[in-house]
Amino acid sequence: MKKNDIYTVEITDMGTQGEGIGKADGHTLFVKDAVVGDVARVKIVKAKKNYAYARLEKVLKPSPFRIEPRCAFSRQCGGCQLQSLSYEQQLLFKEKKIRNNLIHIGGFSPECVDSAMEPIIGMENPWRYRNKAQYPLGTDKEGRIVTGFYAGRTHTIIPNTDCILGVEENREILERIIKYMEENGASAYDENSGTGLLRHVLIRKGFASGQIMVCLVINGTRLPAERRLADMLWQIPGMTSLSVNENRERTNVILGKKVRVLRGKGWIEDRIGEVSFRISPLSFYQVNPVQTQRLYAQALEYAGLSGSETVWDLYCGIGTISLFLAQRAKRVYGVEVIPDAVKDARKNAEINGIANAEFYVGKAEEVLPDKYEKEGIRAEVIVVDPPRKGCDGKCLETMARMRPERIVYVSCDSATLARDLKYLAGEGYELKRARGCDMFPWGMHVETVCLLSRIK
Ligand code: SAH
Repeated sequence: MKKNDIYTVEITDMGTQGEGIGKADGHTLFVKDAVVGDVARVKIVKAKKNYAYARLEKVLKPSPFRIEPRCAFSRQCGGCQLQSLSYEQQLLFKEKKIRNNLIHIGGFSPECVDSAMEPIIGMENPWRYRNKAQYPLGTDKEGRIVTGFYAGRTHTIIPNTDCILGVEENREILERIIKYMEENGASAYDENSGTGLLRHVLIRKGFASGQIMVCLVINGTRLPAERRLADMLWQIPGMTSLSVNENRERTNVILGKKVRVLRGKGWIEDRIGEVSFRISPLSFYQVNPVQTQRLYAQALEYAGLSGSETVWDLYCGIGTISLFLAQRAKRVYGVEVIPDAVKDARKNAEINGIANAEFYVGKAEEVLPDKYEKEGIRAEVIVVDPPRKGCDGKCLETMARMRPERIVYVSCDSATLARDLKYLAGEGYELKRARGCDMFPWGMHVETVCLLSRIK
């Protein structure tokens, strides 16, 4: 098998990145854009000893699960990997991914995983669910300012101001920003040379409050005609906060550390269930509010609180999960590394009249061991919700030493989740329940929540 060879394959499975998997000539083929059930003609892009990557040339016999993507850019765009797969099959794909990871990486038996797993929580209407968008700005070949999405694995911008996963206001906001840039000589950033001013537009909308925040990431400290920009954006209903974020580094990291408010408040407010939240530009906030509420409800149920417990919420962001927990616990301690997020968390406790939640700034793997060793803190329940790389070893080790009765693990990457659960299983915990929650319809990622219980 070599590059440019053509094969006809039947796609029999899906890989973790949403690619189709089939077999040809004793090789396993990974075919981007093919879906399970397709018979397709494919062209080899890169061949290895036992496997190869191939490009989808033509679907010869479409899978019964294949659907017409709603977005014209779905194949090029790096955002959606599964727009050609029916929503039901997508949910199955995600469930299977969690199950496989728990078995193959986590080392749990299929029987254990099957008895723990509950049906994935899907969406009734899986479109326009994102409350946050980050659009890069650039210049096209004709010198026009463009914004849109990066093509898969590249930094080439596909112009598109209306992603159908995002809110309808995004388009109006982006078009006004481009008009402002053209009229006021504000250039778009060029990654290759490191020159130009505007890098990214961050937009967030509170679904419950209707409040909109725009934050422009700039390679500098000031924009030309800042008031003019604010005037243009303030014609859009819901505009609540406009700020600039300074990022002069030659980096892929979108946001810098410094934020300056240009108009309105430095934050927006939103509600999840009964709890209100203040959200600043640098703070993490779940992107899918409908599913977030369901995810938190599940995490809360798994926590099994009666009102007398001390709970630690590690990687707590602006305190979202912590404040849900606090309503049913004696005391909740949150730990979060971003100082602005912790400020938000404290404010959020105050806004909601919650007095039994306390927040610490710092790394979970430093704060928790420190508090445990110096103050001998304890916990009946520990909740963790780390970023994709999962929990730090030191954090896991301390959790195990604290011996809480229950650990609720919320994860956006079931591979690192499974790795961490394997460690905890070795420390005397058993996997009781696990449930997927589809926070990112049409993308390959899936959120998972698990309950571990200490073996008595
Ligand atoms: N539980 C929150 C946030 C989850 S996202 C919610 O549901 O909204 C993960 C959070 O972990 C982010 O806010 C990130 O800033 C924070 N984080 C990343 N590394 C960390 C670390 N080592 N220690 C503590 N917090 C960390």
